[in-house]
Formats: sequence, structure tokens, C-alpha cells
Amino acid sequence: PLGHVVVVGAGFAGLTAAKYLRDWSMGNLKVTVIEPNPQFISCPQSNLVLGGSRTLDDLSFSYALSRKQHGIDWVQDTVTSVDLTNKQVQLTRGHLHYDRLVLAPGVDFNYASITGMTTPVTDIPHAWKAGLQTLQLRQQLEQMPDGGVFVMTIPPGPYRCPPGPYERACQVAHYFKQQKPRSKVVILDANADIVSKKGLFLQSFQGAYKDLIEYHNNSTILQLDPVSKTVKTDFESVKADVLNVIPPQLAGKVTQVAGLVNVDQRWCEVDFVTYASTLQPDVHIIGDSISAGLPKSAHMATSHAKVCAAAIIAMQTGHAPNPLPVFANTCYSFVDDQQAMHVANVYRYDPVKKSMVSAEGGGVSAKASVQEGEYAQAWAQNIWADTLT
Ligand code: FAD
Repeated sequence: PLGHVVVVGAGFAGLTAAKYLRDWSMGNLKVTVIEPNPQFISCPQSNLVLGGSRTLDDLSFSYALSRKQHGIDWVQDTVTSVDLTNKQVQLTRGHLHYDRLVLAPGVDFNYASITGMTTPVTDIPHAWKAGLQTLQLRQQLEQMPDGGVFVMTIPPGPYRCPPGPYERACQVAHYFKQQKPRSKVVILDANADIVSKKGLFLQSFQGAYKDLIEYHNNSTILQLDPVSKTVKTDFESVKADVLNVIPPQLAGKVTQVAGLVNVDQRWCEVDFVTYASTLQPDVHIIGDSISAGLPKSAHMATSHAKVCAAAIIAMQTGHAPNPLPVFANTCYSFVDDQQAMHVANVYRYDPVKKSMVSAEGGGVSAKASVQEGEYAQAWAQNIWADTLT
């Protein structure tokens, strides 16, 4: 055997890394995945559960096929700490030794920075990790009377899925338009501007959802009262019937306890040729936890995973990793139950800047369409198949 790689987290990044580490090493690397959740639930398309055109079951998948087909060892548990000196991860039950460690824990939420709501509140779901909170938010929307107000707060970037909050606003507005047309969606965005597909989202906000969506930029939360569900910003005070606070984000907790968060006290810096932490060469970090200046997306997470898996196999067999990785990112957003739009880019490693740089060109839709809705569905089927089988 070429050694033992322990992968922490079986989301888009970790599960893809585990699969390709096994396949591309022809089974010569031992790979153990540690993941607490019994099944995989996809964040992509989870906004459509709020809009009513998908169920959570449509987005939930078993890990069994992937484990079996690729011969991945599996421990259903959580990593609580990492002993970098002795190369061991501590689980709630026991510990494991690794030759190389891949950390893929996604994001953690920073509630401490929300004035008035410094810890999670049960009836104010974030629904920013797909699962029970997605269902809870949908139920709250169903129970809200016609004429009610849905308020969503967007944290300062970077956060997971830059277009995700605006897609969510469209999905909720789509539901209101069908079922509760006197209701309102109020977006309180801490950022100066819509960072992704701005023109396209504004077409929906000012077109199909003109009387339903109110968008406010530069709307940092000054005070939040979780009991009355009132959010105060510099400009106004808004009372919600249904309140969705998307908290500020940082690298997954296990990277914090391992001491590998070294950018803005939020993200982990990596070498984009190997995804090794710049603090610890035998610990690789992939997915939403890294500092990249690139969108935090499932498509990106699987791309990091493939570059990282190939680099680990090269290094474990005494070869140099590919010095010039290239990958793409396509991100679709649904504006209703059928129409979607996309942005697509190619990224190349720039050895001078030591980072992934967006290549000239790239594409963005002229407008949302039913045809792109079909492409978006195919994109999802493909990434689920690549990650989970
Ligand atoms: P995750 O997928 O979150 O996986 C992390 C895993 O690590 C989890 O399973 C977790 O249980 C596990 N874990 C965490 N800590 C530990 C620990 N200590 N021990 C063991 N396991 C641990 N991206 C797209 O490309 N297209 C889209 O259309 C899209 N839509 C989105 C819509 C919404 C509403 C949201 C919220 C996100 C969307 N995204 C989309 C973004 C995408 O979901 C994330 O970028 C992606 O999930 C990141 O993958 P990851 O593996 O880094 O994290």
C-alpha cells in the first residue's frame, strides 16, 4: 500500500477526493472517510424545496454505493481534534493514524458577530446546510398568512454560494406569487452589491417579482431581536413574519481546532498545486474552507478534490504533481420552477501569482430560460453521479 489517507467530511469535496484517491491509485492507497451524517443531502437545488418544486427526498442520497464501489473505509463519527505532530485524528470514539490528512468540513457559522442573536435560535433557521432546517423554513413559509413578510439577511462575503441568497429570494417570491400574492420578500444584504449574475437577478427582481421583492444593499445588521423578529439596520427597522438569517461564515470548525485558519481569521490558505495547507505540508484542505478568491461552490469543491487527489498520488509515488492545474466552474440559478440562468468560467493556475486565475472570456446567460432550466437539472444529475457513485 502507498499509505493511509484520512478524509474528514463526506460532502462534495471530501467524498470526491476519497473516490478518486482510490480509483486513480488503483486501490493502492488506503482511504478512510469520517463523516457524522448518515446520508448525503445536496445544498444545490435546496432553494427549490423552499419554492415548492423539489422535495428534500429528491436531494438526499445514500453513501453506500460510493463506499462499496470504490472500497472506501468508513467511520460514522466526528473529528474533534487533530494531533499534527503524531499524525492522528481524535474522534468522539477512538483515534486514527494518517500518512496524509484531507480536511473537507465545509463552512462554520459565526453567530457571535450578530448583535442580538449571538447563538442559534430554534425558530430562525439559516437553511444554509441542506437538511431539517430547509424543511423547517418551507413549513414556516407555508404557515405564514398571505400579506406576511419574509426577511432574509445576507452576511458579508465571502460566504458559501455567492448567488445562493438571490436564488432563494426568487424561489420564495415564486411561491408567494402562486399562493400568497400579497406577501413580500425583503432582502437585507450586508454587501454593497449583488456579486454574482447581478443583471440577471435584477431582471427578475424588477420584472416577474416587481411587487414581491424588495432589495436593500449595504444593510448590515445593527440589532436583531429574535423574539419580535425585528432587524434594525442603518436605514430601517423591518419586522418579519418569517426570518431567515444567513450567518457570517468561516472555515469548518475542525480546521480551526487544528490551528490551520490563517487568512483573516476566517479561511485556510493552501498551495493550489497540491491543496496542502501553507502551515502543514501533509494536511490538505479542500472545498468551502479554503481562501481562494474563487466562488465557494460544489463544482469548485469537486475540482479542488480531483487536483488534490492526483497530487497526493503523485507525491506518494515519488512523482511531482501537475504544476499547472486547470478547472472550470459553472453555476446555475433557478428563478422559478423551470427557468434557470448560468455563469461559467475556466480557472488556470498562475505560477507567478501562485493562485487560480480566471481565464479570459467566460460566459453568462442573456436571460433565464426553460432550456437552461433543463441544463441546470442535467448539471445536478451529473455532479451527484460523479460524487456519489
Ligand atoms: P459540504 O458539502 O458542506 O460538506 C462538508 C461535510 O463535512 C459535511 O458532510 C459535514 O457533516 C462534514 N464534517 C464537518 N465537520 C466534520 C468533522 N469535524 N468530522 C467529520 N465530518 C465533518 N454549489 C454549486 O456548485 N451549485 C449550486 O447550484 C449550489 N447551490 C447552493 C444552494 C444553497 C442554498 C447553498 C447553501 C449552497 C449551494 N451551493 C451550490 C454551494 C455548495 O453546496 C457548497 O459549496 C459545497 O457543499 C461545498 O462542499 P464541501 O465539501 O466543502 O462542504
